[in-house]
Amino acid sequence: MVTESCMIRAAGLSHQGLVREQNEDRFVIDQSIGCFLIADGMGGHQAGEVASRIAAEVISKKIAQQTKNTRLDPARILQNAIVAAHQTIRKQAQKAISQQGMGSTVVIAWLQPSGCQLWLGHIGDSRAYLQRGGELFRLTEDHTIYNQARRAGLLGPDPQTHPPRGVLSQALGASDVIAPETTRIELKPDDRLLLCSDGLTDMLSEEHISEFLSASDNIEIACHHLIQAALEQGGKDNVSVSVLQVMP
Ligand code: CA
Repeated sequence: MVTESCMIRAAGLSHQGLVREQNEDRFVIDQSIGCFLIADGMGGHQAGEVASRIAAEVISKKIAQQTKNTRLDPARILQNAIVAAHQTIRKQAQKAISQQGMGSTVVIAWLQPSGCQLWLGHIGDSRAYLQRGGELFRLTEDHTIYNQARRAGLLGPDPQTHPPRGVLSQALGASDVIAPETTRIELKPDDRLLLCSDGLTDMLSEEHISEFLSASDNIEIACHHLIQAALEQGGKDNVSVSVLQVMP
């Protein structure tokens, strides 16, 4: 039996932004194992950079080891990879006082070796979006205290009483326990998938993200437009984007 595999193109770009002194975001584009991810690190004394690097390395390594394992459920492989990254960051933080409390978000898109099936996994507020037929769909729920309260229906009518939007309810390394969320997406020709850090979503509305994402046939140029737009809005944080294009 011949199973047709999905042809995709992928591009990614990261920028320090205009305010931060270093870039603690990290992205991976590895077509050989179908692994695409963005990790956004946090922690003083450059510890955020260490945390996001560990997240990126551990997760892509775990996926590479399991990519031909047809016995295990892809969701389970993804969850195990995320938990392994969490534990590695915590172990590293115990070794150095300057790295205590460091953490990282992560959003991963893992394309299966056959068919057009994509698995998504995430922790924190780095996001995945799908652009299909001119519409933009958000595929991930932010792991923030605010969003946790919203999902539980606990937000009162007075915005003054709402928890701050940027505080994470889950982060690799920084939380005691994590509960990774995974979702399966069936990709279609001409779909575009966007992975991004909050340095993009805090600067641009989803309407603008959608506009810049589809502004060019060339996904490298689309990445450039997105980063440039975030910088023009102030570039207050590191900003990273990765765009996947399903070929017709
Ligand atoms: Ca960030």
